[in-house]
Amino acid sequence: MHAFGDLIRTVPDFPKPGVLFRDITPLLADADGFADCIAALAAPWRDAGVQAVCGIEARGFIFGAALAQALGAGFVPLRKPGKLPPPVLAVDYQLEYGVDRLEARSDALKRGERVLLVDDVLATGGTLAAAQALVGRFGAELAGAAVVIELEALRGRTRWLDGPPLHALLRY
Ligand code: 5GP
Repeated sequence: MHAFGDLIRTVPDFPKPGVLFRDITPLLADADGFADCIAALAAPWRDAGVQAVCGIEARGFIFGAALAQALGAGFVPLRKPGKLPPPVLAVDYQLEYGVDRLEARSDALKRGERVLLVDDVLATGGTLAAAQALVGRFGAELAGAAVVIELEALRGRTRWLDGPPLHALLRY
């Protein structure tokens, strides 16, 4: 475990009863902890030829933008519906109740571009799987995915398809 793991706050019954929420905001507020976290996130990807970092709304933007700077790559936001002006490419995905959608500007990625996906937490894996599908719609090449926290009991990793590495810094 990384020392900055101590800066993750665990909150029972948020946002609803029975959920153990991992709050990353104390980590962001700690200058050394946040810097160490970004350095650790970047380490496995330094020689991976990453050209674009795609961060998932909203907390994936925070880690993704910093990681893009660390890797000398551009940053592309994958957004919730209705936030980006058209034209967009979109992928729908299933939530526990209902559906959600991720969108990207329709020329945000080039065919064959090397892309790294970033989010704060891997839970059931639905969000990251949708992001993987969206990158695929551009014909871009997935270098892999980086998350700060993996909630292992929810087995989200099983939804991550076809080989590119998925690195998690902290596992609960
Ligand atoms: P999944 O689609 O893997 O079930 O959920 C992952 C998404 O939900 C991520 O975008 C993440 O931001 C959010 N998420 C789920 N659980 C937590 C949590 O305990 N803490 C935080 N910060 N985000 C969570």
